[in-house]
Amino acid sequence: MKTEFVIIGGGLSGLYAAYLLEQQGKDYILLEGRNRLGGRIYTEDQFDMGPSWFWPDMHPRITQLIDELHLPVFPQHDKGAFLFDKYENKAPLRYESGYAGSPPSMRVAGGMQTVIDGIKTKLTDEHIICNAKATHVEYYAEHSAEHQDRYSIVTAEINGATQTIQTRQVIFAMPLRLLANSIKFTPALPKQVQNKFAATATWMAAHAKFFAVYDTPFWRETGLSGSASSQVGPLAEIHDASTIDATNSATSSGNGALFGFVGIDAHTRQSAGNELIKSLAVKQLVRMYGEQAAQPIDVKLVDWSQKILTATDADKNAPSAHPHYGLRDIHSALIPVNQQGWYFAGTESAEENGGYIEGALEAAEMVMSRVKL
Ligand SMILES: Cc1cc2nc3c(=O)[nH]c(=O)nc-3n(C[C@H](O)[C@H](O)[C@H](O)COP(=O)(O)OP(=O)(O)OC[C@H]3O[C@@H](n4cnc5c(N)ncnc54)[C@H](O)[C@@H]3O)c2cc1C
Repeated sequence: MKTEFVIIGGGLSGLYAAYLLEQQGKDYILLEGRNRLGGRIYTEDQFDMGPSWFWPDMHPRITQLIDELHLPVFPQHDKGAFLFDKYENKAPLRYESGYAGSPPSMRVAGGMQTVIDGIKTKLTDEHIICNAKATHVEYYAEHSAEHQDRYSIVTAEINGATQTIQTRQVIFAMPLRLLANSIKFTPALPKQVQNKFAATATWMAAHAKFFAVYDTPFWRETGLSGSASSQVGPLAEIHDASTIDATNSATSSGNGALFGFVGIDAHTRQSAGNELIKSLAVKQLVRMYGEQAAQPIDVKLVDWSQKILTATDADKNAPSAHPHYGLRDIHSALIPVNQQGWYFAGTESAEENGGYIEGALEAAEMVMSRVKL
């Protein structure tokens, strides 16, 4: 195969780069290692196992993209009392004043996956290859008296078979640490670049998200918002995750749901196993929200630290604060790498909004301003 651009990674950043290339009428192939697009954006039955929120006051790119795709949005439900779960054998403390997020966060009806599905409709199907894991990128510069030819050969496992693609420019749109860990570069990346990538924590890769789905958001009937924090666990931070059409009426077509970030570290989660965590999480919800929480119609748990196309072993240890992302500090080391036609997108490459979905778009835009169109 031969093409002008190869994009490695079909998360939001890679897909947005594809969208921008498509708008310019460029030839490209996007390789996605999983059998689905979206990467950390992953919605099961309208429930966002990855990102749920965007913040219009802070994040203009994603706000505009959602608008462009005509996707309905709704505010995160936070009206009502907030619970603080401090003691294992006592009812949680209840704060009637509630806790409103600031700036206000918004959700996408049907889940964040609809953004991915929306972008996908703008792309040419033949350009997108799933089950295609890139393993090696090799740069060639051939000089002769008549001409000079520069290109890269990308090797990928596509549906289990090794294939190569010749291309002039490669856009890497995956977590930088995973990149350093899982793709072979010939020639090797400069040491400074390798070290930077290996040291860049993949945002939220250490975390796990748990959902309990109910017929209705019954906690709203007793004046609770669903928002809570807990020092007991296993869920450390809880929010209402009901679908857009959930109401208190039993005839509603939507579902009530609560989600929580699991507060147990990745190593302990792995040895405990998902089933134990799920049952302890339901017990916690009963302690906090009452007996009605005991019979969810569904429970879901996604542990991102165990997803090998997101997290490396190093990502099992969560950073203590939001890291300062971006590649500005290795700018000069990247110049020769960019000259080879290799560029780095993915939210961890974004200078201003690294980590967020906004950063995934920012990084794709930044790369598009640098590639040769
Ligand atoms: C639990 C959780 C909650 C979050 N909450 C929020 C939130 O509320 N708001 C917010 O703004 N952000 C949130 N985030 C962060 C947000 O999900 C990311 O910023 C964004 O999705 C990153 O997109 P990306 O395209 O840069 O990377 P990714 O989504 O990680 O995409 C990388 C892609 O590359 C693929 N890939 C990896 N290796 C290879 C390979 N060798 N070959 C081919 N393909 C490969 C992967 O399968 C993946 O599809 C959350 C993340 C998580 C996990």
